[in-house]
Amino acid sequence: METPVTQIANPLPRTAGTGGSVLVDRCQVCGSPDLRSILFIGYLPPVNTMSPIGSRPDEQPAYPAEMLHCPRCTLVQLGLVVDPSIIFPPHYAYTSGTTRILRDNFAQLYAEVMERFPLTPTDLVVDVGSNDGTLLGNFHRRGHRVCGVEPTHACRIALAAGIPTLNAFFSRESARAVKAEHGAATVVTACNVFAHIEDVHGVVEGILDLLGDDGLFISESHYLAPLVETLQYDTIYHEHLRYYSLTSLKYLLEMHGLEVIHARPIPTHGGSIRVYAARRGTRPVSPDVARILAEEAVALTPERFSEFKRRVSQSKLDLMALLRDVRKDGARVYAVGAPSRASTLVNYVGLDDAIIDCVLEIAGSYKIGKYMPGTLIPVLDEAKLFEDQPEYALLLSWHIGEELAGKLRQLGYRGKLIVPLPTPRILA
Ligand SMILES: [Zn+2]
Repeated sequence: METPVTQIANPLPRTAGTGGSVLVDRCQVCGSPDLRSILFIGYLPPVNTMSPIGSRPDEQPAYPAEMLHCPRCTLVQLGLVVDPSIIFPPHYAYTSGTTRILRDNFAQLYAEVMERFPLTPTDLVVDVGSNDGTLLGNFHRRGHRVCGVEPTHACRIALAAGIPTLNAFFSRESARAVKAEHGAATVVTACNVFAHIEDVHGVVEGILDLLGDDGLFISESHYLAPLVETLQYDTIYHEHLRYYSLTSLKYLLEMHGLEVIHARPIPTHGGSIRVYAARRGTRPVSPDVARILAEEAVALTPERFSEFKRRVSQSKLDLMALLRDVRKDGARVYAVGAPSRASTLVNYVGLDDAIIDCVLEIAGSYKIGKYMPGTLIPVLDEAKLFEDQPEYALLLSWHIGEELAGKLRQLGYRGKLIVPLPTPRILA
C-alpha cells in the first residue's frame, strides 16, 4: 500500500536549480517561524570551490553560517540553504571506503543488525546515498539481497564490486523504481543523508514507499550532543543543513508514522548517532531510547547553547594566541588535512598564508595544487611534511587526531603536533 504524502505546513521554497539560496525563516522539520540564534560564525566560501595555485583571487561568493534552534521540535539548523549545485559540484568525489573508521563502522553496523534483527538471505537491504557500496558490501558478501541508490560517480565502484546500484538522487520516484525491480525492503539504511538533502520530508516519504510493513529503517547522522560538547563548530558548513539530536530525529520520524525503537551513539565523523525506526507499533522499543532522550533534555538546553557560543569564541582566541607564540620564534607551521571542516576552521579563525605555510593532503587528493577556500594557503602533497620537517604540524582533522598523529609519527615526522580543538594544545 502506498503511503500518503504527509502535509507539511508551510515548507520552505526549494533552492535546487535556482543557483541561489533561501533564508531559513521557518523550521525545515516542523514549520515553526520561531527560530533562535545559537551561533553565527560569519560568511563562509563554498568548501569545494578551490582556485588553482598561482591564480589571482577573483570575486567569490560567501554564505552566512548561522546556527538556529527551533524550540518546538528541537531541530538545530543552518540559517541559509544554498543550491546543491553550488555546494556539491560534479567533481565532488568523496568515498567512504577510503576511511578506516567508516569501513569499521559499517562492518559493526552489519554485526549489530544481525544480532538484534537477524536477516535471511532473501531479505532486501537498500542503502540510500550508498556511495561506493562500503555499507552494502557487508550484506552482499554474506549473500543478502542488496540495492543502493547513489547520485554521484562513487556508484561506479559499487557496481564494479557487483552491488546493484541505481545512479539517481533518492526521491519517491527512485524509491518506486527500486521497489518495482527488487520488491519491498526489509531494511532501509541512510547514513549522512538527513543532514544533506534539502527535501528531508520527501526522503522519509520515499523510504516509507520502499519499506515493507514490518521493515526496519536505520539512519546515521552527525550527532548534536558531541558537536556541542567537544566544540565541533567546524562541522558547520553549507553541506550540513541540519544538526540532529535523537529528540529532533524522533519528531521528524513521528510526523511520518515511524517510531524510534533503538538508538546508539557511534564514533564516526567525530560523533554520530545510529537510530533504528519502524512503523509505529510494529516492534518493541528499547530502553536506550528513553535514556538518550533524558540525557539530551539536560545537555541540549538554551543555556548550554549560550555556553557553546562562548566556548567557541574562546577557542578561536586561544588558537590564535598559541600560533602567535609559535610564530614569534620563526617556527614553520604546516597544517595537515583539508577535509571540508578545515575550511570552516581556517575561515572562522582567520588563518592565512602568513600564519600557516601550507595545508597537506595525501597524494592523489584532487585538492592538491589549489588554495584553501577563501585564502591563499596552498594545498600541497603530504610528502613535503617528511622532507621539510617543519617545527609544527597543525592537525585540521583533529576529530581523528589520535589515528592521524600515530600515522604521521610512523611515517617519520619528528616535529610537534598542534591540536586546534576543543582546547588548542601542543602534543609533545
Ligand atoms: Zn522545528
